[in-house]
Amino acid sequence: MQDLGGKPVIVRTYEAAQATGLFDEVYVVTDSDVIFKEIEWHGGKAIMSQKEHDCGTDRIAEAVVHMDVDIVVNVQGDEPFTSKEGLEQVLSVFNGADADQIDLASLMTEIHDWREISDPNAVKVVVDKENFALYFSRSPIPYPRDKNAAVQYFKHKGIYAFRKQALLDFYRLPMTILEATEKIECIRFLEYGKRIKMAISNTQGIEIDTPEDLVRANKILKEEKRLPINNKYRNFPMVPKVVFGRGCFDQLTSIIGPHRKDKAPFIFLVDEVFKNKESVISRIPLRFNDKLLFISSFEEPKTEQVDVLVKSIKTEFTYRPSGIIGIGGGSILDLAKAVSIMLTNKGQASEYQGWDLVKNKAVYHVGIPTISGTGAEVSRTTVLTGPEKKLGINSDFTPFDQVVLDPELTDGVPKNQWFYTGMDCFIHCVESLNGTFLNEFSKSYGEKAYDLCLEIFLDPKVSPESAQEKLMMASWHGGMSIAYSQVGVAHAMSYGLSYVLGVKHGIGNCIVFQHLEDYYPEDVALFNQMIVHHGITLPKEVCRDLTPVQMDTMVSIALSLSPLWENALGPDWEQKVNAKVLMDLYRKM
Ligand code: NAD
Ligand code: ZN
Repeated sequence: MQDLGGKPVIVRTYEAAQATGLFDEVYVVTDSDVIFKEIEWHGGKAIMSQKEHDCGTDRIAEAVVHMDVDIVVNVQGDEPFTSKEGLEQVLSVFNGADADQIDLASLMTEIHDWREISDPNAVKVVVDKENFALYFSRSPIPYPRDKNAAVQYFKHKGIYAFRKQALLDFYRLPMTILEATEKIECIRFLEYGKRIKMAISNTQGIEIDTPEDLVRANKILKEEKRLPINNKYRNFPMVPKVVFGRGCFDQLTSIIGPHRKDKAPFIFLVDEVFKNKESVISRIPLRFNDKLLFISSFEEPKTEQVDVLVKSIKTEFTYRPSGIIGIGGGSILDLAKAVSIMLTNKGQASEYQGWDLVKNKAVYHVGIPTISGTGAEVSRTTVLTGPEKKLGINSDFTPFDQVVLDPELTDGVPKNQWFYTGMDCFIHCVESLNGTFLNEFSKSYGEKAYDLCLEIFLDPKVSPESAQEKLMMASWHGGMSIAYSQVGVAHAMSYGLSYVLGVKHGIGNCIVFQHLEDYYPEDVALFNQMIVHHGITLPKEVCRDLTPVQMDTMVSIALSLSPLWENALGPDWEQKVNAKVLMDLYRKM
């Protein structure tokens, strides 16, 4: 009944549970008149329990005996910050293939601090391979005989989802010795052979057990109200370490050395194009059980491909890798970022496509571009084609921990490919500099990269080596420029092409850009000069044989990218562009 931001804690908890929209009914079960009345007074539903009970689970069991229910979730009354995500996780286990083996489900969260691991107030849980609970204890379990053992500790969170029968069984079964010893309710289930499936949730809520917790909770509530103001400006992560220069690739050994953990391998994801290129491969510092995987960039990276790679790494190695090193173009760099994220985050890559959905820090990852232009080496995103959308995993954990910029590695890139990927950079600059989201941060990077592109692609005096170096930096700066603004029309339309026809990013941008004179007139003129200067021929009529359904998909994928359109055309972009306009443009391509 203590006050939390103007309402009693129990009312806040009730409202939080209801606001998740996950339940058919939400009740407060209580033996207190005061609480009962308070809930009703706030328009909620409460049930008065008749009997004295040892624990909350018994009280809930009494309440549901005569209810027609399938699954009952027990949310503790002192958890007003219960998150929807946590409840969704705990309920989701009943959708799995092993659902019929589950009597109840509960949540656990990763803990890392030894003080918390050894704190008897934090109940630890160990699970089997399928995340079924093996035991709960106030002791640290497992006991780490070797202090450096690569073991993940989990703390139990007091949220349970029961099948009705399990709850009734619990009610009937007397307390047994292990439960009584540890004073942990759910041990009773294990002692009677029930199966508890654990879901992982790493969102940090706070429980209110002490007056200090309440003070903290009140503070958090106030801060949450202020949040929109605090989030007005993007707090942008940058690559913390970068090495530049011809031949700096040889420094890789000393760069990654300090990040090597005992027995944990480095995994090198390398573009297949280097398979027979000894001058590069022989310099990759493979040690112990390190693994080198050649990856084709014939198609752009897919979420499914990420999942397969992660699974194979997890199956082959007991220890989580020391790091992931991506060596290749934008495709391989994005793949390396995504794999490093998915090694520490549960589920499938497609669940993380979007903005800030990644929960845990990725494993150490290094990006080594071998072709320049995309800016993938510096960006906060990885572009992935998923089952439903082509979209990045955009998060603070995505950027590389280290980038190695060695212009020599771009030797041997075929001319056409060099041009397409380089134009990705030019187009990033054009779209950023002409966008409504432009600010001095983006502009300062974008202008430099733009000027470098003009030198590289139009100035005959620039030597090939110098052009390699300049393009490597233009790519970096172009990437930084869009990171703090946005891309525009060419990218939106090129995503459509790529989704439906599998046209790759660089060439797709070129195919689109030549027809965008209405949007970027001067730069399309410059682009056409570059095409002539380098004798590039772009494919024509790529949309000629599209079925109406394909055309619709293409248009709707492009139009779905509203931030890109808003950057290009302003907040009222929907008045300026529509399906018909896009269709006419696509037909010209
Ligand atoms: P890519 O990685 O597909 O490589 C293009 C081709 O160049 C491939 O055939 C590759 O084998 C070859 N290649 C690479 N290095 C070479 C070398 N040194 N010698 C010879 N051949 C070499 O293409 P890309 O244009 O670098 O990247 C495109 C990808 O980047 C797309 O998947 C796109 O979505 C992504 N992208 C990501 C971001 C981001 O911010 N994360 C930004 C833009 C683009
Ligand atoms: Zn791009």
